[in-house]
Amino acid sequence: MTQVTPLRQQYLDVKREYPDCILFFRLGDFYETFDEDAEIAARELDLVLTGRPISKTQRVPMAGVPHHALETYVARLIEKGYHVAVCEQVTEPNGKGLVEREVTRVITPGTVIEPEILSDRKQNYLMAILPVGNPDTREWSKAGIAYVEITTGEFAATQLEGENAAVLVVEELSRLQPSEVIMPSTWVEKGASLPPGIHLTPIADWRFEPAGAEQLLTQHFRVRTLEGFGLGDMPYGVAAAGAILHYLRDTQRNNLAQLTSIRAYSTASFMVLDPFTRRNLELTETIRSRKVHGSLLGVLDRTVTAMGARLLRTWISQPLLDLKRLNARLDAVEALTQDEALRAELTEALRNVSDLERLTNRLLIGKAGPRDLLALRESLSVVPTIQALIEPIPALSALTTKLDACSDVLDHISRALTDDPPAVLNTIGTIRPGYSEELDRILEQTREAREWIANLEPHERRRTGIPTLKVGFNKVFGYYIEVSNAHKDKIPEDYIRKQTLVNAERYITPELKEYETLVLNAEEQILKVERELFEALCQSLCEASSRLLGTARAIAHLDVFLSLATVAVREGYCRPTLTEDDVLIIEAGRHPVVEKLLDGGTRYVPNDTRFDSMSRIHIITGPNMSGKSTYIRQVAVITLMAQIGSFVPADSATIGLVDRLFARIGAQDEIHAGQSTFMVEMVETARLLSGSTRRSLLILDEVGRGTSTYDGLAIARAVIEYIHNHPRLNCRTLFATHYHELTELPNVLPRTRNYSVAVAEDNDEIVFLHRVVPGGANRSYGVHVAQIAGLPRPVVERARELLHQLETQGADFEHPAAKKRKENPAQLTLFDQSEHPALKALKSIAVDELSPIEALTKLYELKRLAAE
Ligand code: ADP
Repeated sequence: MTQVTPLRQQYLDVKREYPDCILFFRLGDFYETFDEDAEIAARELDLVLTGRPISKTQRVPMAGVPHHALETYVARLIEKGYHVAVCEQVTEPNGKGLVEREVTRVITPGTVIEPEILSDRKQNYLMAILPVGNPDTREWSKAGIAYVEITTGEFAATQLEGENAAVLVVEELSRLQPSEVIMPSTWVEKGASLPPGIHLTPIADWRFEPAGAEQLLTQHFRVRTLEGFGLGDMPYGVAAAGAILHYLRDTQRNNLAQLTSIRAYSTASFMVLDPFTRRNLELTETIRSRKVHGSLLGVLDRTVTAMGARLLRTWISQPLLDLKRLNARLDAVEALTQDEALRAELTEALRNVSDLERLTNRLLIGKAGPRDLLALRESLSVVPTIQALIEPIPALSALTTKLDACSDVLDHISRALTDDPPAVLNTIGTIRPGYSEELDRILEQTREAREWIANLEPHERRRTGIPTLKVGFNKVFGYYIEVSNAHKDKIPEDYIRKQTLVNAERYITPELKEYETLVLNAEEQILKVERELFEALCQSLCEASSRLLGTARAIAHLDVFLSLATVAVREGYCRPTLTEDDVLIIEAGRHPVVEKLLDGGTRYVPNDTRFDSMSRIHIITGPNMSGKSTYIRQVAVITLMAQIGSFVPADSATIGLVDRLFARIGAQDEIHAGQSTFMVEMVETARLLSGSTRRSLLILDEVGRGTSTYDGLAIARAVIEYIHNHPRLNCRTLFATHYHELTELPNVLPRTRNYSVAVAEDNDEIVFLHRVVPGGANRSYGVHVAQIAGLPRPVVERARELLHQLETQGADFEHPAAKKRKENPAQLTLFDQSEHPALKALKSIAVDELSPIEALTKLYELKRLAAE
């Protein structure tokens, strides 16, 4: 092999350590990538692919970006899912030998700290998952989970147990939406069975070792045991947290000072929301365009700070089960709804508060710049105003005590920092005069020296009597005194000749050289001292970090309360009454999103809902487009809003806390990961039946729709019977369906009730009233909907004719089984209360115990029996 250049060798040595990253290698003013990295970078970033010689005979591909533009390019690669390592020059070039280089940072989607790359209104989580079980069969009975947000210092861990562990993990994934997940590589290789679309990074298995993890964490937090964090009995949670710490150490290359604590949490203290429910209820983004606008968050978010925006997102993703905490939140919101002037003043004040949380974290990791401190100063200076405004309000007293204006910090920054410091520390002007004697002295000396030099020309002209004497400057000789040859005889003794020109001579004096040194070195020296002073300032501010973070949290809370109060007043919401009973009574409820999206002129029709111990399952019938889905989702969303501490769109609402909200909204015909819609529907239904309790709220829309009518009807009915009769269940259920046959159910299941969405008929036209009324609908109006939807008139006419025929005579194209039953009245239909073999088989199914595949097989069997 030919001998490669030393630089190439240096590159190869670094690259070997980071085979999975695109390596940006600092060369002068550029960050260069080489070889395959260069090809990827050129392709993904539209860079010019050039070449660089690495030996006498060889060249390799190279593509680079200017050093000042690195962040933008890195951001684009991270977005595309690449990992990036940045290799810096760590010594100054000295003309001899190679500059030393080191990787100072690895950037992955979950470890980004650059504000340019992050969204400030959304958390950027890195999550670790440790499945405990058999990787070969992909079965896990336990799991350790940890997650971190390194720009805010949020760090939490938990342990999930039982057969539901895998499901709970998926629920946590959908709650946190991490941008990166790390997992033991064995599990990744064997197939991690996580939902698609997750950025998964495999990590050596040993990094998830509980013992090693515990040691790492205790060392990091400087504690003897992790019990104080509540992690005492969560070895797998600890292991996951340890893996995160390892990973961060590898990528961040600093002391991770922003991670000051870790919190153990339990998924049991929150309302359970599975991924489908979150999606179906459009909590933080819409199903179609995945935008915040059009989601619940979109309606409720009137926050003005980034911290508030992130907190509200967390609350919506994690409704509470704790009556006391919820009432405290509602008290705070209520107090703010009552004073419009106060709301306006607070909102105004909050507008001047920057992202204190991320600012403090930048301080802690040593990344804060002058402008960050400026933002800190401006934010803190608003805190006393906020304190004064909220102090008189008892419901906000918890916030008042947590708000700390950190006047010492404010004072320190104000004394140290100029009013308009430069963005980076390589320009003079960061530190305020008067702050440091040393800096003042240097500044004074420089000023004197400049003045001295400025005065030199007139001074020397006077002294020597040479009227044409000039003081000049050039790069080679520095400052000089120039005298034309005509006045040569008047040169004083202390002039030293430096240069001879055609008509003149140039001189220097020892004193001039002294002042010159002062002036020329001044800038460098001032920059150095300013940098030192700035670093010391940041260091000392770090001591206040926990107070700063406390204030940040209090402000985030205030911002969220304010947002909820503002929306409540603007949209006419009421304070819900929360109880531990399993009632649910809503008067004149509305869907908070749909009511805002209606075309101008159309008014949203409010509806009542009433569940009590005798009314548990509501069957909602009505034609398509009448508003069934909207109505049942409205009940779910109102409940969820109440459990984050928000007012709700209704005239009044009494809500028994819901431990699990399950919303299956039908009519989504997409195929999930190779499964048929029906299969997905059945898997979800199985999950809901096994996971729900008496305190759950089930919202089922057209369950059974994904299959043929008879199958669908059979399943729908079986599901309702099961919920009604199972002692663990009997939960509040809203079941929207277009199967009119189901309206018979209240006759046999006493705790079911029929409701329908009213329509008015006007000759052949129908008008949707969107009003939910007691009693079942008796017609489907599908043909009317076809007409409204713009089907050609002849088709609609023909359909109407056929419908009439069907309704009066039955149809020739009827399902063979139904036909057979009609022809043979002795054999009762599926929905008579007889012991038809299919019904018998159906009743004997232990739905809870079926795997999805078994469920499907059973269905085929049922279908066969029903056709007999
Ligand atoms: P369904 O589930 O019965 O097919 P949807 O719930 O999808 O009907 O409602 C259809 C449309 O009717 C909605 O997009 C909305 O525009 C309108 N709508 C529904 N409920 C109401 C209401 N209570 N007031 C006003 N318009 C409504």
